[in-house]
Amino acid sequence: MAKTRNILIGLAVVAIVTAGLAVSWLRGRRCPPSMHVLLITLDTTRADRLGCYGYDQPTTPNLDQLADDAVLFDMAIAQAAVTPVSHASILTGLDPHHHGLRVMHGLAANTLDEKHTTLAEVWQAAGGRTAAFVSAFPVTPTFGLGQGFEHFDMDFPNADGEGLVSEAEGWVSTGSSQRRADATTTAAITWLESQPDAEAPLLMWVHYFDPHDPFVLPPKEMLGQFRPRSKDRADVLRAIYDAEVAYMDAQIGRLFDAFKQRGLWDRTIVVVVADHGEGLGDHDWWTHGILYQEQIRVPQIVRVPGIRPRRVMQLVRTIDLMPTVLELADVPDALRPVMDGESLTYPMRTGWTGKPRVAYSDSVNMLGYGRFDDLTRRDDKYEKLYCLIDGSYKLIFHQLKPENKEFYDLLTDPREQTNLAASKPPAMLVMMERLETMQCLSPIMPGMTPTDLNRLGQLESLGYIDRSATTTTSTAPTAERPTTSKAAP
Ligand SMILES: [Zn+2]
Repeated sequence: MAKTRNILIGLAVVAIVTAGLAVSWLRGRRCPPSMHVLLITLDTTRADRLGCYGYDQPTTPNLDQLADDAVLFDMAIAQAAVTPVSHASILTGLDPHHHGLRVMHGLAANTLDEKHTTLAEVWQAAGGRTAAFVSAFPVTPTFGLGQGFEHFDMDFPNADGEGLVSEAEGWVSTGSSQRRADATTTAAITWLESQPDAEAPLLMWVHYFDPHDPFVLPPKEMLGQFRPRSKDRADVLRAIYDAEVAYMDAQIGRLFDAFKQRGLWDRTIVVVVADHGEGLGDHDWWTHGILYQEQIRVPQIVRVPGIRPRRVMQLVRTIDLMPTVLELADVPDALRPVMDGESLTYPMRTGWTGKPRVAYSDSVNMLGYGRFDDLTRRDDKYEKLYCLIDGSYKLIFHQLKPENKEFYDLLTDPREQTNLAASKPPAMLVMMERLETMQCLSPIMPGMTPTDLNRLGQLESLGYIDRSATTTTSTAPTAERPTTSKAAP
């Protein structure tokens, strides 16, 4: 018996050493990716504001044309509706509670830890080139999103975030730290033209910010193409939003032309995805940061030479993009990190996702969660929220007020108007159980600032929270905990 055991141990050692050698051989060999990748992230862009997703305004002729030649995912869910959090998921293939970048301000938990492997890092390890061109502070290296990019262009005011974060008020002002789509596109094209031909495969990330806010406006002629339906301020802002989407699309057209003129287009995978949408008044919410469909259902389009165009109707996620790109570009398995996302190549080729996917999103940012010195002014919707979508069922769990949980059937109620939670449907209970096993609930204030700590004391004294149960980074779910269910004063 001892002899057999020794042989087995010996074989196991040989297998481990061989596998290790194979990995180092692959790393040493630097199998270059087989294609270029152009990854375009559209900040704050609702899927339903694109022509290819059914919008009746001419906002996106260039993206529509791309979609005609691409796989369009009709129900793609972003993993957060906060810019750096969602981008970290796109760039790592990980859900927010696994990559740890969960908030936009604070002393910790607002930076992607170096220990995580980004798409750009894998690309570099495989021998490819990497370059990023971004348009606003929330996607800069301040948040750890520069990992793996040898060239990172962020030529706009306050790119380091100096003075943008108000600890006293608990918010981040991004209005003064951004650039318009034309400037970002010009930077990307200028760099592209400076590169010698026949270089190693390129991963280029271009991020656009125009629809995020009306601080930087498109040219007058573009604004003139989208007239408000009334003089009402909301209608004026909606028209500006459409013009911003249209201007971004026009600049994306310039970028596509540059790839075509350089002869790169037929060797380039083009991925277009938004980090989140925008409320625009739906659910009485103007901006983003919470988890209704207008905020987390995003455009997701993947164009690959040789894969025929189709529309995939089943649920997919933005975390699925990184494994998809690595597979499509033949990056060796040994270089791919563990990801929550799963490759979309099978649905891209067949139109069917196979095993249905479940989408997770969260919102623990708490920016704008009322003023902590005046809790009566807070908005209950801006809670610490956790969402699961499974088939047509959608659960939104409220961590601070579990009795406010929401449950929708998106098939019969796509605009989330009828909360079915009160009737405790069996599907909701199953999804609650699933959420409870995920270890995804965050501490009350991830990345707390000294000011936050004072507020935490206030919240505790008012009975909103039980700090002793919520100070670890992965607190087990505490559904229905009595201390969190007191009414606002
Ligand atoms: Zn964003």
